[in-house]
Amino acid sequence: MPELPEVETTVRDLRPHLIGRTFIAVETLVPRMVRTPSPDAFASGIAGRTAQTLDRRGKFIVARLDRGAMVAHLMMGGAFRWAAPGSGDPVRFTCFRFHLDDRSELWLVNPRTLGGVWLVDDASEVVGHLGPEPLDDDFTLEVLKRQLAGRTAPIKPLLLDQSIIAGVGNIYADESLFIAGIRPERPADELTDAELARLHAAIREALDKGVRLRGTSFDDYLNPDGSKGEHQEHTNVFRREGKPCSQCGTLIQKKTFRGRGTHYCPQCQR
Ligand SMILES: [Zn+2]
Repeated sequence: MPELPEVETTVRDLRPHLIGRTFIAVETLVPRMVRTPSPDAFASGIAGRTAQTLDRRGKFIVARLDRGAMVAHLMMGGAFRWAAPGSGDPVRFTCFRFHLDDRSELWLVNPRTLGGVWLVDDASEVVGHLGPEPLDDDFTLEVLKRQLAGRTAPIKPLLLDQSIIAGVGNIYADESLFIAGIRPERPADELTDAELARLHAAIREALDKGVRLRGTSFDDYLNPDGSKGEHQEHTNVFRREGKPCSQCGTLIQKKTFRGRGTHYCPQCQR
């Protein structure tokens, strides 16, 4: 977390506050989170630049500026907060405090300080390796098949591989596989055409539901106004271990698979 729906919600909420605004200054409270360039060059470089667009690519936030681009990755538990003028001190765990020309502020909050920011000439330097966007119209079943072609690995870690599909993380991988009725450990090259078609639809359904519910707030994640998403109250399997499956009543199970907590229904998923 945050994954595609949380980052999408963040970007949509921040857009009206940020587009057209000029960065006056930034306080880099956790300098090692600046990935490119140096922390000092990041701070001096961002000052005076104006945000022209704000978009999501996978789990990254990309602000195109009048010169170059700022890219941010929130990693585990990270979030952006927008603060109206006169909001006072930043919330706990604020790692970057951006000052904007209308005296509002943008805070990058990250308790585990695992996220990162980049100031680059072109965002593709950071996000160029990402696979297709699963909610785009051109993410067809054929694209999914091509991305998985020849893959003998289990399907769940492939769904988490950002070069195969951008934006899916642990929550939405588990939810997608439940909707598709596929066990997380199934080798990708053994999935039938019918299963791949179900998986393709399920990935989009799970992510779309997450966006509609304004993201998942199990741990630290909050939307830019400090509110929680609602998706955590509507998951099928994620963090529902020991509770009855909504489809069949069997108890949802959780196991560690390839290092990740993995939730599934042993009856509905084959
Ligand atoms: Zn079930």
